[in-house]
Amino acid sequence: MLHQLMTLLSLPFSRNKLSILNYHQVLEKPDPLRPWEPDRAKFDWHMALLSRHFQPLPLIEALDRIEDGTLPARAVCVTLDDGYLNNLDVALPILNHYQIPATVFVATAFCDGDNMWNDRIIDLLAHLKVDVIDLETAGLGHCTLDSISTRRKLANQIISQFKYLAVEDRLQKVDELYAINGSISETRKMLRPEEVTTLSRAGIEIGCHTHNHPILKGMTPDQQREEVGRNKALLEAWTGKPVLGFAYPNGRFGKDIDTENLAVIRELGFRYAVSTDAGYTARDSNRFALRRFTPWDTSALKFHARMLLNLWANATPGGDRSKAH
Ligand SMILES: [Zn+2]
Repeated sequence: MLHQLMTLLSLPFSRNKLSILNYHQVLEKPDPLRPWEPDRAKFDWHMALLSRHFQPLPLIEALDRIEDGTLPARAVCVTLDDGYLNNLDVALPILNHYQIPATVFVATAFCDGDNMWNDRIIDLLAHLKVDVIDLETAGLGHCTLDSISTRRKLANQIISQFKYLAVEDRLQKVDELYAINGSISETRKMLRPEEVTTLSRAGIEIGCHTHNHPILKGMTPDQQREEVGRNKALLEAWTGKPVLGFAYPNGRFGKDIDTENLAVIRELGFRYAVSTDAGYTARDSNRFALRRFTPWDTSALKFHARMLLNLWANATPGGDRSKAH
């Protein structure tokens, strides 16, 4: 009843506006070191709510319909970044169940079995069976691992320390952390090429996310073309389809991307690119800096209210609690 009322009240300001949601992983079960990632149960009720009170559309179709003025009210698109294996194992059956289209943006360097550097840091902190860890490499000295929240806090501190390093330095520092502190058994988290093919054949749009997941801002145009061109060529070979969409790694305008990056992506033949800045998409939105919105509420009513608030206001008040990557 309340949901219906909210839908009704939102009519005056929800026309011709598109919400693009931004997920990364959909976990098998909740992970105390990754509290921002939804698990199967949470993603299920998110999708149930979208199928019931919103109009989920494929991203390209939604953009075409904004252009010709036929976008249905409360239109929404679902996107997932990076190329996690759980997008196939956990998210896809839920998306299929509710018949919700989605786009997965894949960073191809991780399709050979390596986990992403940020996950490797979190997993080391999560599973290391020692009381004190040597984090000199991250400038944090020796730290006591006395609780899960300490482990989580330290992992996040290291990730922010390494995030803006060049890709090679970043990977080398993570290897150093493992070498100094002893390794853990790592399970594969990312899609392999044949699993990207499976997702594509299941009707998921596959989009680019660069090869190595660098921060594009500050890279030369040639470096950017190499990163993105390689990513695009691999994904087109794996899917047998043209790749039309791009998601900027990290993706905050001003901090991780600038107008020069937008020009390079446009020139490489993409039809659209998404950032991680909060907001909605309208007819006059820049197709190469589309805003996305990350839902993080724990109740369906608050989630619904925040979806509408995102359409009403340009940015999402209260900040974005997601981990952009
Ligand atoms: Zn990413």
